[in-house]
Amino acid sequence: MRYISTRGQAPALTFEEAMLSGLARDGGLYVPETIPQMSPAEIKALHGLSYEETAFRVMRPFVGETFDDATLRDLIAKAYAGFGHEARAPLKQLAPGHFLLELFHGPTLAFKDFAMQLIGQFFQEALKRRGERVTIVGATSGDTGSAAIEAFKGLDNVDVVILFPHGRVSEVQRRQMTTPDEANVHALALDGDFDDCQARLKDMFNHFDFRDEVRLAGVNSINWARVLAQVVYYFSAAVSLGAPERKVSFTVPTGNFGDIFAGFIAKQMGLPIHRLVIATNQNDILHRCMETAEYRKNGVKPSISPSMDIEVSSNFERALFWAHDKDGAAIAKLMTELQTEGSFAISPNAMGALAEHYDSGRADEATTSETIAATLTSAGELLCPHSAVGVHVGTEAAAKAPETPMITLATAHPAKFPDAVEAASGIRPPLPNRMADLYERSERVTRVANDLSAIESLIKERIAR
Ligand SMILES: *Cc1c(COP(=O)(O)O)cnc(C)c1O
Repeated sequence: MRYISTRGQAPALTFEEAMLSGLARDGGLYVPETIPQMSPAEIKALHGLSYEETAFRVMRPFVGETFDDATLRDLIAKAYAGFGHEARAPLKQLAPGHFLLELFHGPTLAFKDFAMQLIGQFFQEALKRRGERVTIVGATSGDTGSAAIEAFKGLDNVDVVILFPHGRVSEVQRRQMTTPDEANVHALALDGDFDDCQARLKDMFNHFDFRDEVRLAGVNSINWARVLAQVVYYFSAAVSLGAPERKVSFTVPTGNFGDIFAGFIAKQMGLPIHRLVIATNQNDILHRCMETAEYRKNGVKPSISPSMDIEVSSNFERALFWAHDKDGAAIAKLMTELQTEGSFAISPNAMGALAEHYDSGRADEATTSETIAATLTSAGELLCPHSAVGVHVGTEAAAKAPETPMITLATAHPAKFPDAVEAASGIRPPLPNRMADLYERSERVTRVANDLSAIESLIKERIAR
């Protein structure tokens, strides 16, 4: 199994190399050269298996020779052992034909734990074998950072540096990043928004001297291994509802497009998925793009679902790559346009290819709050604001194909966003017992200007070498 760049100019890599390097050196994202197929019989054989065994069977062909069977099974087992639910990704029913896939039972209460816990194990094993040390740098709108810190804290061969937008993450998110006291954890509060954090991260990766000096590694949602980990729960959920005999659709609260793109990979592998529905909040660049065939930036407005407050949706590049028949030069051109003009237009052909798989919708702030209250009444479920955006859009999309079950992804636990949830529902969701003392722990964080060289010097000063 080889991995190629969406911009066509970087060398093809193995799974291990693609995982350790994150972003390709031509600025592109790694994708598998070919997508392994699962036959209907192989999908059927997933019925009744544990989440871990499902993960092993779905991921095995993508991992190639990086890990042997026994090692891969062992790393998967360790990754999910700390989850607070035996099923790992349980499915609940919200309404006739509408289901909620709960992805928030990991250590930081958001779906990002699924990928990050696994990638922590993968990195440790690969680095140990190579006798190497790396600096993991991540940009976060809140949940990636805490998930990365939780996955890498205390590991031998890594420093983990997280850039988050100062004042723009929830208190729970911030505390999850600033309270771990392991020496290899470095939380940096950047004066800017999430797109600034993401841009500085990209700058660091494109500054090859710095990249090589600190042995930079990326675990943002552009890292292929993260997308891969997320493919698994599309299979486990669809199989629970009768796949491969019955098709299902998914609605995914979307920001960086990593989670929903994992659904596209599941579909390409042979999982019978009818529609993949992109749910956006008021920062609806992806929804507007699907409606108008133009991807146009017009500024980010902070919302009550902050993990979706972005307008540079990195993994959308992977979707565009498929929609352009894997023409790397075409993608490089669109991405240059985005950088210079702040927008690009999508050709009718490519739009047609996107529309074959994806629908989209949006929920504004009031609708998000109303959905939290309404779902509590109708189903007894207290949703986080991101999941509520999904449930609103998913309900609308389900009405168009009532015979196909709709599965909406619940991407975070309501207790991660207690203020917004309480304002909407009157109920303040308590943290699960295992993290009940979060508000008492002391914090450790460094504020930094939105300036590449300031950030780079700080990192060089902090990391162990
Ligand atoms: C990261 C995140 C999202 C967006 O997921 P993408 O893969 O970036 O599209 C949605 N909800 C929550 C709670 C998140 O943490």
